[in-house]
Amino acid sequence: MTEGPGAAESEALATLHRVFGYEAFRGEQEAIIEHVVAGGDALVLMPTGGGKSLCYQIPALVRPGTGIVVSPLIALMQDQVDALRALGVRAGFINSTQDFDERRVVEAEFLAGELDLLYLAPERLRVESTLDLLSRGKISVFAIDEAHCVSQWGHDFRPDYLTLSLLGERWPDVPRIALTATATRATHQEITQRLGLPTARHFVASFDRPNIQYRIVPKADPKRQLLAFLREEHAGDAGIVYCLSRNSVEKTAEFLSSNGVEAVPYHAGLDAGMRAAHQSRFLREEGLVVVATIAFGMGIDKPDVRFVAHLDLPKSIEGYYQETGRAGRDGLPSTAWMAYGLNDVIQQRKLIQSGEGDEAFRRRAAAHLDAMLALCETALCRRGQLLAYFGQDPSADGCGNCDTCLTPPETWDGTIAAQKVLSTVVRLQRERGQKFGAVQIVDILLGKRTGKVIQFDHDQLSVFGIGQDLTEGEWRGVVRQLLAQGLLAVEGEYGTLVLTEASGSVLRRDREVPLRKEPVKPAASRSGSGT
Ligand code: ADP
Ligand code: ZN
Repeated sequence: MTEGPGAAESEALATLHRVFGYEAFRGEQEAIIEHVVAGGDALVLMPTGGGKSLCYQIPALVRPGTGIVVSPLIALMQDQVDALRALGVRAGFINSTQDFDERRVVEAEFLAGELDLLYLAPERLRVESTLDLLSRGKISVFAIDEAHCVSQWGHDFRPDYLTLSLLGERWPDVPRIALTATATRATHQEITQRLGLPTARHFVASFDRPNIQYRIVPKADPKRQLLAFLREEHAGDAGIVYCLSRNSVEKTAEFLSSNGVEAVPYHAGLDAGMRAAHQSRFLREEGLVVVATIAFGMGIDKPDVRFVAHLDLPKSIEGYYQETGRAGRDGLPSTAWMAYGLNDVIQQRKLIQSGEGDEAFRRRAAAHLDAMLALCETALCRRGQLLAYFGQDPSADGCGNCDTCLTPPETWDGTIAAQKVLSTVVRLQRERGQKFGAVQIVDILLGKRTGKVIQFDHDQLSVFGIGQDLTEGEWRGVVRQLLAQGLLAVEGEYGTLVLTEASGSVLRRDREVPLRKEPVKPAASRSGSGT
């Protein structure tokens, strides 16, 4: 409806109609495009599927010269360029997949002013010959896609992004637009600072994805739980299953295939040809499931991904949000499903402790993990937690489309159970000078005379067998929640359990410990669902 006064704006709208064949701009696209066409710098924070590409493609078409798009997604450049060419846009790319002659052709087109858009990998801009090439042509706009890659503590850090601030120094008159789907307030600041965009206007779209249903279930037998979820709710649908290791990717893909779900693996250990083949099958075919490590998905534009499943805990909410965001780009109902258990917590805590990086890096990684754990353990609306994390105000009475809204979890007073766990850890340490992992602690509580219990005389401890009121699964849930709440910690490469500063208040009975009741049947499903 907005028919702006400026000629530039109507040219933008005309381009939207003529080139892309779309009726109207979405959300903030129009304001962003107008700002950049007029020569302003911009930082665009828009969730995946929000329509970021048009925000630089249209300015590149409207302004004189070639739009330079910096993107780390080399594997997708060919597809992006092909798609643009099919629309009659003069687009090209320069990256390491090309041979000398192919590159020469693109360079000549650029210099002759025959390109509307030129895609470059960030490492190209470290090379003086590329900068020299750019300075001999005319540039309309610089677009820096996946701008969060400049963040050193994000999960997609690319050192080459740190050199991109030179674009503003060398081409002060060319507008720059940085785009990302991942951004907390801290990341916004890091992007503007490191890319040298202090005066860029910020455009922050809503991060809510109302068509995605968020669900997190306690992990029992993850592959079977996944299979049940797929059969009950997503038979024949396309989706992505994320696992942490290549090994579990392979095994899960095999398991699904042998159970009648068409599934292919995708991870960095497969050769490039097979990866490309699986990716293009996923894009082309209906109803294929890709089981992948996080190497898969950045920049994948498949509108009808109906579910994203996590069999392992993501390291941060940013990662979780970005991965789940690949579901339902077409706006239709989709599911973000995750199975999460005690071993996830222990494993991730161990990874942080034994991983590389200095103390500050570890602290940040731990803070990221804590936020992710809080999301998993919350009894409140999951969407509300997610939006609050991204600095947005959630609706007060819940979203009605996440598991905690649909079936509010019950809580129980876990104070005594917590005391039992903590005092077992204390006894072992004080009386025996020993530290053990969760399995041994739970065996002691249950009064199980396992080989390891006998070996260490743990049946002589006063706490032996004091926990027969709960099942093994329930105790693991208690330990997991204590770890998630910071009332217990994991130490060293064996993942032994140790107390934290906060543990004392529980042992002294100064503090109550509300815990979530776990569903009896872990494979949660929507009641009466026939879909
Ligand atoms: P992002 O890069 O933010 O993840 P894309 O730029 O790939 O999102 O856009 C997501 C999808 O939405 C694409 O299929 C794109 O063609 C479509 N789209 C973007 N803007 C519009 C619009 N104004 N009208 C209709 N479809 C649009
Ligand atoms: Zn909710």
